[in-house]
Amino acid sequence: MNTANDRSTKLSATRRDFLRTASMLTGAAALCPLGFRCIARAAEPSQTIVIRGHHLFDMLDALGTGKSSHKTLGPVAQKVRANPKVPIKVVVGVDDICAPCEWWDRAKTHCTKSLKTYPQDNENSMTSDKNALRVLGMKAGDTMSAADLYRLIKVKVTKKVFAEEVCVACRLVNRCKKTYEPRIEAAVKALAEPHS
Ligand code: SF4
Repeated sequence: MNTANDRSTKLSATRRDFLRTASMLTGAAALCPLGFRCIARAAEPSQTIVIRGHHLFDMLDALGTGKSSHKTLGPVAQKVRANPKVPIKVVVGVDDICAPCEWWDRAKTHCTKSLKTYPQDNENSMTSDKNALRVLGMKAGDTMSAADLYRLIKVKVTKKVFAEEVCVACRLVNRCKKTYEPRIEAAVKALAEPHS
């Protein structure tokens, strides 16, 4: 038989659940860096795309031109170009590009593509993921529309920041920094309107 204390405990639990749900719903949008609007996790639509920090930069060319020979990055970039409002969740480590990739080792959770020749690549990629998020003022799990995210990148990541803070650990940085500026320009322009 329920005592008055049991009933009171149950009511408090129900009230706590209600308040928690209400606060999640009212917090559907939160302020992100520079006033860009992050989309709270509770409000994430199901089409959210998960991208690791350094892949935000690897995707620039495909976003700008619509072309990529990479089997898993290309389709993700096409999806973003077709719907620039799609929410992107930023992460450190495996994302929607690595997970289906033939080079991804699920058991060891690392990329095997250049493992023998460049054993430091995985560690350096994780460093670049973390650097990218730090420079953007974001945390792993933060979500923002693709168009806003790339506008934020353009504001926050100059060529110097790209080379000296984001991709500083990557062995390809000297090559990539030469084309960074036109590629971020083209990506932001491409995301200003949907492309089929
Ligand atoms: S598994 Fe390696 S090659 Fe494949 S997308 Fe990830 S980092 Fe690139």
